[in-house]
Amino acid sequence: MKQLSIKAYAKINLFLNIKGIRDDGYHELEMVMQSINLYDNIKISSRKKGINIETNSNEIPVGKDNLVYKAAQKIMGKTNFPKGVSIFIDKNIPVAAGLAGGSTDAAAVIKGMNEFFNLNLEKDTLHDIARQVGSDVPFCLNPGTAYATGRGDELKYLSPIKTYKVILVKPPVMVSTKKIYEMYDKSNYNIEIPVKKLLETIKNQRPLNIKDGWANVLEPVTKNIVKDVEKIENILKNKGFDFTLMTGSGPTVFSLVDKSRKELIEKTIKNWQREQDFITLAETI
Ligand code: ATP
Repeated sequence: MKQLSIKAYAKINLFLNIKGIRDDGYHELEMVMQSINLYDNIKISSRKKGINIETNSNEIPVGKDNLVYKAAQKIMGKTNFPKGVSIFIDKNIPVAAGLAGGSTDAAAVIKGMNEFFNLNLEKDTLHDIARQVGSDVPFCLNPGTAYATGRGDELKYLSPIKTYKVILVKPPVMVSTKKIYEMYDKSNYNIEIPVKKLLETIKNQRPLNIKDGWANVLEPVTKNIVKDVEKIENILKNKGFDFTLMTGSGPTVFSLVDKSRKELIEKTIKNWQREQDFITLAETI
């Protein structure tokens, strides 16, 4: 059977800052999104009618609540779509982890359906559909390094950073992005992120040094309810992985590490003591 297979890449946030709440209720964000080579495989094929979703994961819904359903529905609504679509999600990205797993699957379906069914939708139309599906979806359409503002959907792509290894560790907990933002609104943590300086660092292709102020303002909020985040961070920092942060609303922690430290990275992963964690190695792309 003819089908299209497409990789849906996860992202991490190199920094994440919240500037306030907008009139439409969304948070005004500024962050750098960075794609990594951890991906779900999305397979698209044709069927007579309707949208059929299957997956190898028992952690995500297969009906209308799956973000790819919304994506497929929007694509169908934009075109005179004569048939239906079958979507298989081969899940590798941990769910509700701050890695944009749902968003990247949706982006892959938007791109994939456009290609597979020869819909010839323009880039702007794909972007518009993506932002209707979710704030992180437009970035996922084009993996790379981007400065994202607005709801996270206004993107300025940056010069690619050099390739770093990325250790990802997720404790066995899922967090609701919505809940973390609500808790952030009620809190009064005060983390200052030197956004301009950090963007200059990327622009000038200087090494990323945690001491320059890379941070995630949601981190203290998630740490408050998921104690494992701090524990994991401490283990990684004690190994000498200084650039260790939480991604998105968490609870995944990542260390950005120079490729020259491959041996220490591999040893750390092999000897990871907390058996309950998901741990893997990826690379920035
Ligand atoms: P973000 O980093 O964009 O905040 P996340 O990585 O924290 O996202 P997701 O993995 O996208 O979170 O999952 C968030 C919720 O979305 C989960 O509760 C899950 O049930 C639901 N969901 C719907 N469709 C998908 C999908 N295709 N993959 C993963 N989660 C999905």
